[in-house]
Amino acid sequence: PTDINELADEYLRLSYHGLRAKDKSFNAGFKTDFDNGIRKIDIVPQDIGRVLLNLYNNAFYAVNEKAKQQTNGYEPAISVTTKKEGDKVILTVKDNGNGIPQKVIDKIFQPFFTTKPAGEGTGLGLSLSYDIIKAHRGEIKVNTSEGEFTEFEIQLPV
Ligand code: ADP
Ligand code: MG
Repeated sequence: PTDINELADEYLRLSYHGLRAKDKSFNAGFKTDFDNGIRKIDIVPQDIGRVLLNLYNNAFYAVNEKAKQQTNGYEPAISVTTKKEGDKVILTVKDNGNGIPQKVIDKIFQPFFTTKPAGEGTGLGLSLSYDIIKAHRGEIKVNTSEGEFTEFEIQLPV
């Protein structure tokens, strides 16, 4: 049994500090809104941790790319939420990066699909995440608007 809020928070810090250690100029805001009424759920924490780490790294990467384009007054930020809905726990990771173009949205869960330069992405993160979430009898979905935001939602049974 795992406290999903604790796990989500721990990996968020891991992602943020990991990226800052690699690139001192990296900077982005993040906020969390956790539902404290969620009880511990039966998951493999290392596996869900890998899913979270990839979602966070992708989100921070997206806002960092947008920040590099020096949009006036742009504040790179990601937000993480959890909530309980019936017999499900729902976790969302939202960033205000450039979004995912409609023409590639059907490919992002395929192994080796990446839009990142060589050495920066393997294209395996979301494909692995999909498998991990399916193994937990959950769902992973994406909602995005080009130039505006990307939001991934994970549903896990309680
Ligand atoms: P990788 O991060 O190695 O590229 P992933 O499987 O994690 O592989 O992601 C696949 C692709 O999905 C990314 O290369 C990118 O094009 C797109 N993507 C994923 N998350 C985001 C995001 N938050 N914002 C914009 N694009 C994203
Ligand atoms: Mg990735």
